[in-house]
Amino acid sequence: SKVPPIILNNGVEMPQLGFGVWQVPDDEAEQAVTTALEAGYRSIDTAAIYGNEEGTGKAIAASGLAREDIFVTTKLWNGDQGYDSTLRAFDTSLEKLGLDYVDLYLIHWPTPERDLYVDSYKAFEKLHADGRIRAIGVSNFEPEHLRRLIAETSVVPAVDQIELHPHLQQSAAREYHAEQGIATEAWSPLGQGKGLLEVPAIVAIAQKHGRTPAQVVLRWHLQLGNVVIPKSVTPSRIKENIEVFDFTLDTEDLAAISALNEDRRLGPDPLTFNQA
Ligand code: NAD
Repeated sequence: SKVPPIILNNGVEMPQLGFGVWQVPDDEAEQAVTTALEAGYRSIDTAAIYGNEEGTGKAIAASGLAREDIFVTTKLWNGDQGYDSTLRAFDTSLEKLGLDYVDLYLIHWPTPERDLYVDSYKAFEKLHADGRIRAIGVSNFEPEHLRRLIAETSVVPAVDQIELHPHLQQSAAREYHAEQGIATEAWSPLGQGKGLLEVPAIVAIAQKHGRTPAQVVLRWHLQLGNVVIPKSVTPSRIKENIEVFDFTLDTEDLAAISALNEDRRLGPDPLTFNQA
């Protein structure tokens, strides 16, 4: 494969770069995921709330690739948290995907107000023990939520998928993940493609390497050790975003990008987000 794996804390291999499908309508997901698989992506990041598990599953089925050669992530939505409802939501996701296991299942948000993430995670542990999920983890968990989860359950999460890009570098979370052996997965790795890709420092590094700003930002993540899941529905960009394993940023480039941190979120605050 084009994309080297990282080894999760339970020994499972996960491609360091995958394809995200947030905001891709179900009827466009099959085409987008097909394009990504043809371009060499072997990891797909969806979620129940994205409403495109069916289209994603159709592309996987039609790809002709062996199931074990594709790494599939989906996520438990907030309104489904709780032990029994998690088990039911998982069955629904598997059915929509047309799969008999997923590689990674994540609690989408901690929603601390509900106080159900520990119970939900215990259901994850059961599904994991039953062989229906290869690795279990969380998303949008702050260190305080991880600390509680680790104290009250038995499987340390394999992954925490959090908003992370040069304007929100998440150094405290990354440090805690490293201490605990949790892989840091960056969502909105390109900062949603908005202002970030026009930042002069990034444009200059791109010109220096004969690359695009998106490739430079993805390369920065990879060299830091982050897992990334850039999203695009444009075939040329889908291809561009995976062509990032044949060049290296130097220490000066990395430092210039690390200087861009503004602790600025594009998405919701995990401490208060509670959408059902
Ligand atoms: P992203 O940072 O991947 O940016 C995607 C946008 O950037 C595209 O829509 C496009 O406008 C632009 N873009 C992509 N490639 C480009 C290129 N080569 N050149 C120029 N512009 C380009 O943002 P995202 O979609 O928010 O995040 C990626 C994935 O992360 C999602 O699809 C989803 O799978 C996941 N995600 C998870 C959560 C969560 O709560 N766990 C939240 C948001 C996103």
